[in-house]
Amino acid sequence: MIKISQPCVGEEEIASIRLAFETKYLGLGSKVKEFEKALQNFLNPETPPFVACVSTGTSALHLACQAIDLKEGDEVLVPTITYLASFHAITATGATPIAVDVQADTACICPKDALKRLTAKTKAIMPVHFGSHPGPLQEIYTIAKQHNLRVIEDAAHSFGGKINGKKVGDEGDIICFSFDGVKNITCAEGGAVVTRDPKVFERVSDLRLLGVFKDSEQRYAGKRSYDFDCVEQGWRYHMSNVNASIGLAQLKKIDTFAKTRQNYFKLYTENLDKNIGNPLPLDIENTIPHPYVFYFKNPENLDVETMKNKRNLLMEKLLERGIESGLHYKPNHLVSFFKQFNPEPLPVAEDLWSRTLTLPLHCNLSEEDILRVAQSVNELYKEIFG
Ligand SMILES: *Cc1c(COP(=O)(O)O)cnc(C)c1O
Repeated sequence: MIKISQPCVGEEEIASIRLAFETKYLGLGSKVKEFEKALQNFLNPETPPFVACVSTGTSALHLACQAIDLKEGDEVLVPTITYLASFHAITATGATPIAVDVQADTACICPKDALKRLTAKTKAIMPVHFGSHPGPLQEIYTIAKQHNLRVIEDAAHSFGGKINGKKVGDEGDIICFSFDGVKNITCAEGGAVVTRDPKVFERVSDLRLLGVFKDSEQRYAGKRSYDFDCVEQGWRYHMSNVNASIGLAQLKKIDTFAKTRQNYFKLYTENLDKNIGNPLPLDIENTIPHPYVFYFKNPENLDVETMKNKRNLLMEKLLERGIESGLHYKPNHLVSFFKQFNPEPLPVAEDLWSRTLTLPLHCNLSEEDILRVAQSVNELYKEIFG
């Protein structure tokens, strides 16, 4: 079976976990500090941004939302095509996620549609680096500046990539990464909030440890705060020494991971028939692609339901050939919990949703696997769509 995604871990990670065990402290401690320093150094060794490591990408987004004081009555513009986590992070603060339609080519947030949905209640905008594509980030920052909005980038898919020669996370307002099991690097579970705003950094550092003032500092040094104060709702969202130790080993391998993922992205793109569809238009030399997102053509203008059914049939037939595939993502405005805030249709996203397919991409695959998948997709498309 060719799995759609898989962590690529081995002896190096086990050796690193052993070192974490030897500290005799498994929670947030010296290994987390070491991983944060390594991430800072990776993002920009000369003028590093602040990095606070947390338990998941979802908690990173949630804490970023809380750190900019989002609350009930506030609105956040967020592309409808993203993982549920982006939307949940917003509702967790009581704020309302306003689903925005996407660009037809990048499937990232559409600035024009975002402007249409801007109100006096809009406090922030959350662009998503969907499929490792940064989307129209420059335009989003321009809109944010003009309307006094904070920007929280969901960069869960794009760790290690570069924009205009700078690492994703080096520049921008607040950037959130995920290190869950299938992302570009993994901590098993983990995430990070990256920012150059010291207030956001300090707030996130405290909030991840139940809001106890400067408890992180104590714990890095193997101590704790006992006679503490706490002034707001906090969470147990910190990263552990064990998860950080896995991340430390993974970060050392990132150049090999990048080469492999880029190579497979190019192999797919060369070997999938141009007449059946296209992948996301990534600047592949500057991107570490996390999923391989492909959009089928719909030459007969089938309606969304029919197109979806045919695509689903193709998925089933791939599975019969031992190939897993996936769908990224069901638009959030179609999900019951988020539909209540977003009753209107978002036509570009809904069309993309009916035509999308995510193909296996991870570092345990071989070039033969990629070629086999591409050939199967080409054959099955012709069989199903004629
Ligand atoms: C993975 C992911 C997240 C959440 O990260 P977790 O570490 O799984 O909580 C958020 N947004 C996107 C786009 C993701 O792919």
